[in-house]
Amino acid sequence: SEQERIRNFSIIAHVDHGKSTLADQFIRLCGALSEREMANQVLDSMDIERERGITIKAQSVRLQYRADDGQDYTFHLIDTPGHVDFSYEVSRSLAACEGALLVVDASQGVEAQSVANCYTALEHDLEIIPVLNKIDLPAAEPDRVRREIEEIVGLPAANAILASAKDGRGIREILEQVVQDIPAPRGDPAAPLQALIIDSWFDNYLGTVVLVRVMNGSLRPGQKIRTMAGGKEYLVEKTGVFTPKPVHVSALDTGTVGFVIAGIRSIEGARVGDTLTDASRPAPAPLPGFREVQAQVFTGLYPIDSADYERFREALQKLRLNDAALQFEPETSQALGFGFRCGFLGLLHMEIIQERLEREYQLDLLSTAPTVVYEIETTDGEILHLSNPAELPPTNRIREIREPLIRSNILVPEKYLGPVITLCEERRGRQVNLQFTGGQVMVSYELPLNEVVLDFFDRLKSVSRGYASMDYEFSRFQAGPLVKMDILINGEKLDALSWIVHRDFAERRGRELASRLKDLIPRQMFEVAIQAAIGAKIIARETVKAMRKDVLAKCYGGDITRKRKLLEKQKEGKKRMKQVGRVEIPQEAFLAILQTE
Ligand code: GDP
Ligand code: MG
Repeated sequence: SEQERIRNFSIIAHVDHGKSTLADQFIRLCGALSEREMANQVLDSMDIERERGITIKAQSVRLQYRADDGQDYTFHLIDTPGHVDFSYEVSRSLAACEGALLVVDASQGVEAQSVANCYTALEHDLEIIPVLNKIDLPAAEPDRVRREIEEIVGLPAANAILASAKDGRGIREILEQVVQDIPAPRGDPAAPLQALIIDSWFDNYLGTVVLVRVMNGSLRPGQKIRTMAGGKEYLVEKTGVFTPKPVHVSALDTGTVGFVIAGIRSIEGARVGDTLTDASRPAPAPLPGFREVQAQVFTGLYPIDSADYERFREALQKLRLNDAALQFEPETSQALGFGFRCGFLGLLHMEIIQERLEREYQLDLLSTAPTVVYEIETTDGEILHLSNPAELPPTNRIREIREPLIRSNILVPEKYLGPVITLCEERRGRQVNLQFTGGQVMVSYELPLNEVVLDFFDRLKSVSRGYASMDYEFSRFQAGPLVKMDILINGEKLDALSWIVHRDFAERRGRELASRLKDLIPRQMFEVAIQAAIGAKIIARETVKAMRKDVLAKCYGGDITRKRKLLEKQKEGKKRMKQVGRVEIPQEAFLAILQTE
């Protein structure tokens, strides 16, 4: 039957190891697009994504492949996001496959993120085919990387395919192996419909497009469907597949991957991981694994020009159409005025959204330091979840503050292990596992997320000369001696700089922060006092001296080019300045919390 000649697979690869280039080669070899259409990498649709080389939105393509056995096979190549923040989406994409290619750059080696995704694939019983890519590079070390795959991932790699997505070597061999090794989808065409939602996005013309993998039964226009977790009913208008161009088909049968259009008004109506079933003949149970994604990292975003506020709200609403994980609610700061508190899956997700707001919507935004969600138990026994330190109840109403801990796995060459351990210990980490394999070490720590949103990734890269990689997931809340630290500027509390810190670190971090603020806040016509305080107790104090009049005079008396330069510089700086009381404070000051040391 046709079902026996279907192969569903994903590519697991660390960023830059060649996933998109390889997918392009498959599309080319299967003749799905003309050369001109191939001019751009087709799987990455968004600009930012292309620039960063990260696939944000999962997309899937159907390919027709004539194998060496003379038979025609239908492949569904399911693209997965490549970053640690999107691990839930990755798990749903993998749940839609019977196999995966583990692609490792043969000149680099195995990275933590691919290990994590491989484990997810193994949990779903996927057949994994190891591929060593970039074999054309002189620096390629296939033997070493093979050993790493065996020792770190625990996968036999003696027969790993040597490939180059650049010169085309090994491509056909990979597709033959897909045919040989990856099982056809099982599923029962006669059973009630069960289709897993892999992704959903908003299209201006089509409305919500839902990408699904049909596990049992089939989907066709005219059918009434129901989302099993969401409990909503819709009428299927169209079914189709991406080749990668969208093409309508009369039905999506058991084992296939394709899209459904069903008059769903927003992606809320079809959440990733939910199950579609037939409303008149529902399946007895949903597919396993549905979970609502929760924002982990929060920041306050404020338009520099308060006239942009409404435009900012509209931009957030638009982005939210395609991003169920993006949260926002209005927030007012005494210091910064009207803005939004926004929630993200992680730091990279946050960076991507901020960049899109600035680039695609031309908004100048000021952001406060990212924080995590704290669980607070009040003296009345009430449980609060807060992401904004400024909203913390008064100390005498707090029984306990609990902070989120993550479980992280760090993969690092042995010679950088020492500095990595030191870093984790400094950040209040607790070692839970240490495993030596070949030249690399997999070290696992439980770490407060609060310490990770500071500058952990940057520090990890710098202490390991770029060699360490890491993945993480939320682990649990834990009570700790946490206190709120406030920053006062000329005696006035700057709410946007309030911060929750561990008591043992409070004094040192308070002193460091005050001294960094002193360097960041430009001299004004008067003296500026910077204080760090816990409750009523001042723990640090710095002063920005007043500007001397003659310095100003000298500047403006100078030659014309110098004067212009100065004015231009001032204008640029102005863009990111916020007037707080009488004091002008630059954007960098609001992020000063982020740098430690
Ligand atoms: P992705 O982030 O995994 O999707 O990686 P890309 O496909 O975007 O590739 C990252 C970079 O590696 C790009 O500059 C590619 O041109 C390059 N690249 C991909 N495959 C190969 C290969 O086999 N050999 C060489 N030399 N470069 C490659
Ligand atoms: Mg890519």
